[in-house]
Amino acid sequence: MVSGRVLVIAGSDSSGGAGLEADQKVIAAHGCYAMTATTALTAQNTTGVFDIHHVPAEFLRKQIDACINDIGVDVVKTGMLASAATVDAVATALEEHKVKTLVIDPVMIATSGSQLLAPEALQVLRARLLPRATILTPNLPEARLLLADAGYGHLPVDKVDDLEVIASAVHALGPRWVLVKGGHCPFRRNGTAAGTPEEREIVVDLLFGGPDERAFKIQTPYHETRNTHGTGCSLASAIASNLAKGMDMPRAVKAACRYVEAGIKTAPGLGAGSGPLNHFH
Ligand code: PLP
Repeated sequence: MVSGRVLVIAGSDSSGGAGLEADQKVIAAHGCYAMTATTALTAQNTTGVFDIHHVPAEFLRKQIDACINDIGVDVVKTGMLASAATVDAVATALEEHKVKTLVIDPVMIATSGSQLLAPEALQVLRARLLPRATILTPNLPEARLLLADAGYGHLPVDKVDDLEVIASAVHALGPRWVLVKGGHCPFRRNGTAAGTPEEREIVVDLLFGGPDERAFKIQTPYHETRNTHGTGCSLASAIASNLAKGMDMPRAVKAACRYVEAGIKTAPGLGAGSGPLNHFH
């Protein structure tokens, strides 16, 4: 039984580990119904992104309208938005369709280093999309790029509590909730930053809903693995699915973190580079 309609506005990953292809697997694995509006096509595998083909903003808008006008939508999730024109078109479409629940994964740079969002699009993202977000899910480098673009200086992370300072600054940019993902900065079990690879013991993701809400630290064991391709897309789609099924935000996020951790632990080990997760477990 399908229990929630999720529209994904994102880019395609031809190798199926990230992007729209991963999103659809995750949403299906959660028993929800996935629709897609494609922003860009990538020629990509586990070793890198070889080329990007952009979909014109007017065509993207037609895809969004076609899905929402007929099937309707419970949650919209955005991933790779590619260009300032795309961000602008998406913001206008969400506004006109009065979309209420919006999960934004601010995809910027692939693990392999490819630029998935034009630098000039950051400002449009901040001005037009972040204030509409029900939840924004930046990893640490993305949070830092957003904050730098908004005029903040560098915020160091020497201990777990420093994640809250970053989450709070990102929250001030407008989203209702922020999940700062700490995968790029593993900690020791005592909550201080790991100095050496041997000290990498835990990963903490911090969910922040503003000064009046309790901040949630979601801790998972650190796994030394190359199979993390599409982790961010998968996490955001799991959150979107859980929200579409009616969970409240803390539950939706905690369940999504557990889902992704299990997917990393049971990854099929495909490809010569950063391999995909196991989405069906
Ligand atoms: N390619 C596309 C189309 C994506 O949407 C994403 C999402 O973040 C990526 C690549 C990034 O993949 P990776 O997890 O390897 O950085």
